[in-house]
Amino acid sequence: MELAKGAQAGQIELPMVALFALLSSLSAAATPDGGPQDAGPARDAAATIQAFDPRWSRVTAPTPGPALVIGQPGAGCVRGARALPLRGRGFVVVHPERNRHFGHPMLIAFVRDLAAQVRRQKLLPLFVGDLGQPRGGPTATGHRSHQSGIDVDIWYAPPARPWTPGLDPTPPAPVVVDLRTKKLLPAWNKKVARLVELVATNPAVDRIFVHPAIKRALCKNEARRGPWLRIVRPWWGHHDHLHARLRCPDDSPDCAQPQPLPEGEGCDASLDWWLSEEAAKAWAKRKPPGEGAPAMPEQCEELLGRNRHH
Ligand SMILES: [Zn+2]
Repeated sequence: MELAKGAQAGQIELPMVALFALLSSLSAAATPDGGPQDAGPARDAAATIQAFDPRWSRVTAPTPGPALVIGQPGAGCVRGARALPLRGRGFVVVHPERNRHFGHPMLIAFVRDLAAQVRRQKLLPLFVGDLGQPRGGPTATGHRSHQSGIDVDIWYAPPARPWTPGLDPTPPAPVVVDLRTKKLLPAWNKKVARLVELVATNPAVDRIFVHPAIKRALCKNEARRGPWLRIVRPWWGHHDHLHARLRCPDDSPDCAQPQPLPEGEGCDASLDWWLSEEAAKAWAKRKPPGEGAPAMPEQCEELLGRNRHH
C-alpha cells in the first residue's frame, strides 16, 4: 500500500477536493500517485536526516545473486542490483560521486535501450541523474524515493555550458519551466517533448513524473496526444528532470504494486489544480519528508546484514 487513505490519486485529482484532504495527503509520507517524493528541499533538514536510516547510503556494492525488487519506491530495497556504467553510448551519469547508479537489471536495460532510441532518433544524449543506491533503501538526505531499484531521473536537456564529466564539477540541470510564471523556457523544445513521449510509451514504464506545466504543454499538442499521456503525471520539483518509474519486474513477487492511475489522459481539471494557487499553498505547507515514512519491508534488513560480513 503506497498511499495513505485520503492520498488516493483519484481524490487529489478532483478539483473540488477539500484543502484538508490535500494537506493530510501531502503531510503523510505517502503522496498522490505514489509521487516521487524527491521534489524540493526538505524544510527541516535535521528532522529529515534523523528519519532516514543512514546504513543504506554507507553500503558501497550490491548484494550478489539474482535480482529482486522488495517493497515500494518510497520504502524498499533491491537485491542483486546492477550498476549502470557511468557513461555509455548515448548516456552519461551526471552525479557519479553519489553512487546512486544502481538498480534492477530491468532498469539498467531501460536506460540503455532509451539511450539507443535517442541516438537512432537523433535526439540529445541522456543525462542520467539518480537511479538508486547499491542495495536501494533511503538516502541519507532528501531523496526518499528511488529505493527499490525501479526509478530513474533523467534531465530534460543537456547542460547549457560545455562540460567534461568526471573532470568538471557537475553543472546544474537545465530548467525548462519558469517556476514563477509556469511558462516553458527555451530549453524546452520538440526534442525534449519527444524524449518524454519515448519514455512514456516504453512498455517497461509504469508512470513518469513531470512538472505540471510540461504536462499541460503535452496535452495542448493535439498532433501527438495519445493514451500515453495517462502515465505522465504532474508533480512538483520536476522542472529540470523527469522521473521514470518502471513496473514491478516479473521476477519480484515482493515488489509492491503501485497505486492504479486514474483513467484518461489527465488533461482536465485535475491538471488545472496542479497549476493553481491552492496547489502551491498545499505544497508549501507539507511536512518534512521523513515524517510518517512507510515501514521498510523486513526482508530488506537481511541485505544490510550481509554487508557486515564483507
Ligand atoms: Zn526522481
